[in-house]
Amino acid sequence: MLTDTEIYTAELRMWRERFEQHLDQVPQLLETLRDGVNPLKAAGLSERVSGGGGEAPLPFRADPMDDCDDVWAALVEYIGEVAERLQEPAPGATGASWGVQGNVRGIGAGVSGDRAYKAGFVLIAWVIDRAEKVRDLRLVDSEQHLFGLIRKLVKRYVDAPPIERPAHRRFCSVCGERAVLTDWVLGDAGEASCRVCGATYENEGVVE
Ligand SMILES: [Zn+2]
Repeated sequence: MLTDTEIYTAELRMWRERFEQHLDQVPQLLETLRDGVNPLKAAGLSERVSGGGGEAPLPFRADPMDDCDDVWAALVEYIGEVAERLQEPAPGATGASWGVQGNVRGIGAGVSGDRAYKAGFVLIAWVIDRAEKVRDLRLVDSEQHLFGLIRKLVKRYVDAPPIERPAHRRFCSVCGERAVLTDWVLGDAGEASCRVCGATYENEGVVE
């Protein structure tokens, strides 16, 4: 029979996997949305939008910029809630936001795909580092909202899952930051690099 500790540990592991799997998608999703839709999917979208003889309602709001704003706002709100409950300052990348009367509505107009990626990375790294404390907060409604949005938009816009798993980043032996991530893998070969100092690691540094 399982002990309470074993059950707790198993539940925590499952919760954590789900948490990381969703959040790991965010930087790439933001970049994809910010840079415009994947051309193949974009063609599919415009066909559906324009091919219905003018009468058919839009299948969904077909605007990657709006979708980018939605997922960013949901993420910033969630992080803000976590920061408040943990009584810690929220990470600074929330400054990439635009808002109305103090409510975050989206990511700033001048923010490029690359910057959106980095800003998203900083936010999710912050919350992933606090995963166990976050679980104890039981922010079920906010997590359902954010994770549901991530699943919906990844399905709509992203063809391949990200090779980078920010939750799995490792320490850099050059600069000491936990910022080393896999760049590419091809068979047995691969390369990883540090997002802070740029140091690269071949083969042995590439672990998923
Ligand atoms: Zn480094």
